[in-house]
Amino acid sequence: PSEIPPIPAPLLSALLALDEPERSSKWLRCLFEEDKDEAITQIALWQAYQARFAHAVDKHGRPLLPAAEFIKNVSTTFADKAAAQVQAGPVQKFIIKGIRIRDAPVDLSGRPYQKCMWTTPTPDGVSTRPCGAFFMEPAEMFTHIFSDHLRVPKTASPSPTPHSGSPNGDGVEGGAPETKPSTQTEKFTNDEGTYRCLWPGCTKFRNPTPIRPAQLAAHIKIHLPPASSFDPSSPRQPSWVSPAATQSFSFLSTAVDERGDAAGIPLTAVLVLRNLARNLRRLGREEEEREDEREAGGGRKVAKFFGGVEGELWFVFAHNKSLASYLGDLLIAIAE
Ligand SMILES: [Zn+2]
Ligand SMILES: [Zn+2]
Repeated sequence: PSEIPPIPAPLLSALLALDEPERSSKWLRCLFEEDKDEAITQIALWQAYQARFAHAVDKHGRPLLPAAEFIKNVSTTFADKAAAQVQAGPVQKFIIKGIRIRDAPVDLSGRPYQKCMWTTPTPDGVSTRPCGAFFMEPAEMFTHIFSDHLRVPKTASPSPTPHSGSPNGDGVEGGAPETKPSTQTEKFTNDEGTYRCLWPGCTKFRNPTPIRPAQLAAHIKIHLPPASSFDPSSPRQPSWVSPAATQSFSFLSTAVDERGDAAGIPLTAVLVLRNLARNLRRLGREEEEREDEREAGGGRKVAKFFGGVEGELWFVFAHNKSLASYLGDLLIAIAE
């Protein structure tokens, strides 16, 4: 990343409670990491520091560090792995050598935040970029996507004490996440609406689709990054070390009932096919009993009808979690 990102609201308020120079040290640690090959200009650092904390001076009465001291504190924070230097060239640049912006900030304990990648328009409206808001828990990101990006309406709160805030949950547009502490227990409605999914790479709901929020929720959850696994005792990896390439695999599950068991026409279809396979085998055996070549007979009849689609059946078995066990029965009935 080339821009120093704003930090998540809960982290900012934790930092605001600290005195200097601890506050700027912690802020630097949350947003930057050591990298001996990288550098950042002193002016960019200083401006970001001012932008984040200047307003707090009046509110909390904790003055900012003077520029020279702030820059000195950068080296102190990174145990002299970061050094103020002058970069020679046509235009002299004052830089801090040895640090880079983290791909995602970490909290005060070092646990990384996850970034919302939802496609949003740039401020000038001519192109798009990832939303970029940071969240610690997948559930927080989910609520953010539902209210700020998809604008799924919320049910009016049944609580007798009216509270402020719009009942429609009008989201905060773009940029910094405004995660309010979830004291309010408003729920999203499940009234069908027209929604589209703008998670990068998603093709399922690229175009506006009439859908119920509960169904949409199940889809959105596919995209959410898993809760960041963080073990403070394990050696810390720089954020720019990417994990090994993985192959993505999408499940194509069909309807389930309230107990999570397969339901509807897809289930009926599998059961009909299974009964067909079993009965064909019995029928085949009976015919061959008469012709006295018992063994191969039943199987031959099943193969004649199911051989052509066996590949497809295995595909559904692998991809459709809700139908997998029923497909298993069918495949056994075919293979027996
Ligand atoms: Zn977002
Ligand atoms: Zn999607």
